[in-house]
Amino acid sequence: MSKQQPAFTQTSVKAILVINCGSSSVKFSLIQPESGKTLLSGLAECLATPQASITFKYNDGIHNQAQKEKSTLVAPFDHQIALSTLVNKLVHLNLVDNIVAVGHRVVHGGEHYSQPTLIHANIKINIEKLAQLAPLHNPANLIGIDACQQVFPTLPQVAIFDTAFHQSMPEKAYLYGLPIKLYQEHSIRRYGFHGTSHYFVANQAASIMNKPLEQCNLISAHLGNGCSVTAIKDGKSVDTSMGMTPLEGVMMGTRSGDIDAGIVFHLIKQLGYTAEEVDTLLNKKSGLLGLSELSNDCRTLETTMLDKSHPQSEQARLALTVFCYRIAKSIASFSASLSELDGLIFTGGIGENSAWVRQEIINQLSLLNFHLCEEQNQATCFGASGNITTEASRPCWVIATNEEWVIAEQSAKLLVSSSTGEL
Ligand code: ADP
Repeated sequence: MSKQQPAFTQTSVKAILVINCGSSSVKFSLIQPESGKTLLSGLAECLATPQASITFKYNDGIHNQAQKEKSTLVAPFDHQIALSTLVNKLVHLNLVDNIVAVGHRVVHGGEHYSQPTLIHANIKINIEKLAQLAPLHNPANLIGIDACQQVFPTLPQVAIFDTAFHQSMPEKAYLYGLPIKLYQEHSIRRYGFHGTSHYFVANQAASIMNKPLEQCNLISAHLGNGCSVTAIKDGKSVDTSMGMTPLEGVMMGTRSGDIDAGIVFHLIKQLGYTAEEVDTLLNKKSGLLGLSELSNDCRTLETTMLDKSHPQSEQARLALTVFCYRIAKSIASFSASLSELDGLIFTGGIGENSAWVRQEIINQLSLLNFHLCEEQNQATCFGASGNITTEASRPCWVIATNEEWVIAEQSAKLLVSSSTGEL
């Protein structure tokens, strides 16, 4: 019996392939830019190891059922193999002709890039130069761009920079109190990250308020494995908690966030750490994981905290309490950046789902006139969105982020406005 080809009803609708490439993973989504509808998504992980695998999620057009498939990748288990496997899948599902461009998430755009950018040779050189500022991320993003150029040689490739939304920060927000030459000669300044997410949820809040984004004054808290808080004035980022690297700011899953820089010298001079060990300590062994000595996963910590018989129950509570206090402090600090505030937004895996974390944060923000509605807060999880504060309070919305949609939409807009092609 011959295999039936899934018959997608939406084959005539154009779509953007969104790629988020890490050093050992590739996240992908095929998205219709106007509606945000995802035709296919998935993740290739454990790349560069024999455990490399790829997972696809899509809707079967014949039976109209959600499908999830996982398969192992063949040698050399690299990004190119992952993308070739993706292409085969897209061909099999009759989706490949839909794709009009590839949109890449690129972590660091430095001061060069505040807009979506069509990728050509010079852009790649600049992304490579910026790897000095993002050694873990930009080289991986470039691998994804190179591999996509190989497998989709005729498609335009667009870079959407995670730092771009924060390029509107004023000098007073992006300069460190360091000798100015370090900024002038070595680009050492604050850049901020999670820009596409902060931009997306700010837009959603503007729709909820029925106001143009340009008239909105907001604070958004993206709380996932990485966490950042952003002050948005008249629709533009005016300050954000992450800095030259994603290590600065609030405490995160495994990152410490802000610490006294003197601790670094103490670790090196008194405790014999190498620079490499300090790097690993602050980026991978601190935050929720470091304080709890249990997990960086908010769900595990909440369950442990609530299970009084667990020997680490109190330590899990301590980690979550410090986490929430530091976020509340960061949110409050942005009252120096804004003269008006329409509301607060929670997003990211923790912000969207953890009623406990949101309650703990909001209860420390009564000076800013935030007052929680407990019922609404409990009800707003697992993809639900809405206002979780009382009527007398300033609003606080839970909004599910969708960075992929922003990348698809901005890539599509760039194509339409450039001479490269039309949607
Ligand atoms: P990333 O930054 O890698 O995209 P996510 O935005 O998916 O991460 O967030 C991951 C975090 O969200 C983890 O700490 C996870 O425990 C937390 N999370 C997901 N679901 C829940 C939930 N139901 N309750 C509490 N925390 C949750």
